[in-house]
Amino acid sequence: MAIERTFSIIKPDATNRNLTGAINAVIEAAGLRIVAQKRIRMTKAQAETFYAVHSARPFFGELVEFMTSAPVVVQVLEADNAVAKYREVMGATNPANAAEGTIRKLFALSMGENSAHGSDSVDNAAIEIAQFFAGNEIVG
Ligand code: GDP
Repeated sequence: MAIERTFSIIKPDATNRNLTGAINAVIEAAGLRIVAQKRIRMTKAQAETFYAVHSARPFFGELVEFMTSAPVVVQVLEADNAVAKYREVMGATNPANAAEGTIRKLFALSMGENSAHGSDSVDNAAIEIAQFFAGNEIVG
């Protein structure tokens, strides 16, 4: 297995409830290494670009509004097989379907306010990381 990097966001519902540390504890316990991290207020333009793939979906406006409603924590996570591993650690999009012990099962409020984002492929991880981090901000 190859060492990979994936992109993570701790979403506004989680930062609002002061859950950054609790979510980081789940991430680290799973063997993912946090090699870059910063707390930002996402702009509308950043959120629209980030979720452009969903721009035709009925929930797009709500999603952009949610992601810009409070600070988020953007992260780069590193591990063997990091992309698939973090998807597993996050759990299903809808917390009602998420497995026990996953971030979304433990913390998410709803399908929209679901506490965490994780890239769905290695290619998308590289694109998403580049949207928020300069190379010299990632220290592995
Ligand atoms: P993910 O890869 O598991 O995050 O899921 P998707 O790529 O399908 O969706 C991206 C994000 O859009 C999700 O994490 C949710 O925050 C949001 N989302 C997806 N479906 C819905 C929905 O039906 N309603 C709302 N409000 N948000 C949704």
